[in-house]
Amino acid sequence: MKISHKEAKTILTPSKLPGADYVVNPYSGCAFGCVYCYADFTRKFTGHMEDKWGEYVDIKINTPEIFEKELSKLTKKIVKKNEFKKGDKPVIFFGSVTDPYQGVEAKYELTRKCLEIIAKSDIRNDIKISLLTKSPLVARDIVIFKQIPNLEIGMTITSIDDEVSKMFESCAPSSSLRIKALNELNKEGINTYAFVGPLLPHFVANEKSLNILFMKIKESGTNKVWVEHINLKGKKMGRLIELVGENLSKEEYELFVNSQTDEYKNRLNEIIMKIIKKYDLELVGGKVIDHIKLEK
Ligand code: SF4
Repeated sequence: MKISHKEAKTILTPSKLPGADYVVNPYSGCAFGCVYCYADFTRKFTGHMEDKWGEYVDIKINTPEIFEKELSKLTKKIVKKNEFKKGDKPVIFFGSVTDPYQGVEAKYELTRKCLEIIAKSDIRNDIKISLLTKSPLVARDIVIFKQIPNLEIGMTITSIDDEVSKMFESCAPSSSLRIKALNELNKEGINTYAFVGPLLPHFVANEKSLNILFMKIKESGTNKVWVEHINLKGKKMGRLIELVGENLSKEEYELFVNSQTDEYKNRLNEIIMKIIKKYDLELVGGKVIDHIKLEK
């Protein structure tokens, strides 16, 4: 793993992502190296075109200082200029193109330091914080989460089978550890959601395992879910098949190849809606999201 220290020019970046007005990414690259990751496009903006996604992480070492300054500018916009409508709290989303609680966070604590700044800021009541991770390290910061009024923590869970997770998310913590972390957060009264995305193609032929996945989420105490179809456009399909193809049965392989068709997505939508109803979960947006285009 190639770890470098970098100086960031900006950290609190305006965003057009659904549900996010600003994004914060204290690291560039991601050591979890999921084979389907959509954030690998950032290699071309960070001088890593020659590096394989998942094999480098840049530590934006000045993150807390820059974040504090930018949060103070945002405070002026909210309080003095009144740029946001009353009651319309801007959302700051951590982890749009990296995992904010990947391994290096245990040492550098950049995500934690930003959250501490928020917890002490004058505008903590006027903003919303959302954070998405695959790491149980997130539970380390429960004490700080409790000091931030409008905060929710998302945990990405794409399978309950640790072998499947290992195949697609080889360096990420196992699904069972993620469910355990959700449990812990829920017990401590933290608002949580589960991000079930991308929907792995074998699920359309394996309704039972999809059912168990949502059941485990519900049992963890989480009631809100985002669900997203897999996007294998461009070179993604070839890359994914190259990486995991030999582990797929003939049927699973066919499903991968057909996973971008409307017929496939409609079939999966029907299954998901049935399960959501069964476990009485809140599906964000009321439907399975097709694909969110990421920004830096
Ligand atoms: S954890 Fe998220 S950002 Fe990191 S490689 Fe996986 S999908 Fe990409």
